[in-house]
Amino acid sequence: MDFIKKNLSEIQNKIKLYASNRNDILLIAVSKTFPIEYIKEAYDFGIRDFAENKAQELRYKAQELSDLDINWHFIGRIQTNKIKYIVPVAKYIHSVYREKEIEEIDKVAKKYNKIQKILIELNVSGEESKGGITENELKDLLEFSKQFENVQVVGLMTMAPYTDNEEIIRNVFLKLKSLRDEYIKYYPNLKELSMGMSNDYHIAIEAGSTMLRIGSSIFGNRNYSTGG
Ligand SMILES: *Cc1c(COP(=O)(O)O)cnc(C)c1O
Repeated sequence: MDFIKKNLSEIQNKIKLYASNRNDILLIAVSKTFPIEYIKEAYDFGIRDFAENKAQELRYKAQELSDLDINWHFIGRIQTNKIKYIVPVAKYIHSVYREKEIEEIDKVAKKYNKIQKILIELNVSGEESKGGITENELKDLLEFSKQFENVQVVGLMTMAPYTDNEEIIRNVFLKLKSLRDEYIKYYPNLKELSMGMSNDYHIAIEAGSTMLRIGSSIFGNRNYSTGG
């Protein structure tokens, strides 16, 4: 599995290159569908942040790796009845965009005596297949979130549209940044910009990303048919 360390070192070099002097960029290794051994290999290289997009898979891997000092991120579609599996282990939940999810996260977080950090997902490009709210709904959702003591909104998240057109992708990322810059005046915790995946992280960094979610460039192609 030497390829994992080789990939990670190449990615870290690229991040340094694109980030110039910034050092506020977190590399999150998206380990969904990949085996425990792959996570250990990346951990051994020094990676501490890993992301999953299925509640049960997150719970299973967190249990198996409970002796390691890992920060878990949840980045998938949220099913309200699975929030009870996510909150106990996730340091960040990136993909929140419904009021009922926020209510349930608060309820479960209270039980664990925890303040759950979340990011609000925006569907900037407006593609129907994507989750997230529109920019017009952001103000109300941020205001709504304020009433929950055990939920803290720490940033915004988005996925780029499916296109090779870098200009379109860049505009989506810059839009997310401008929303963050606008609302951080009223919500000082709203610092994070979770954007950038294997194919577009160079664009995301230049647009101000603080959290990169990178999977296949580290671990290889995912095979969804064999479980995971
Ligand atoms: C799978 C996934 C990623 C990682 O995608 P890669 O193209 O493999 O880097 C990032 N973000 C989300 C929300 C994902 O579901």
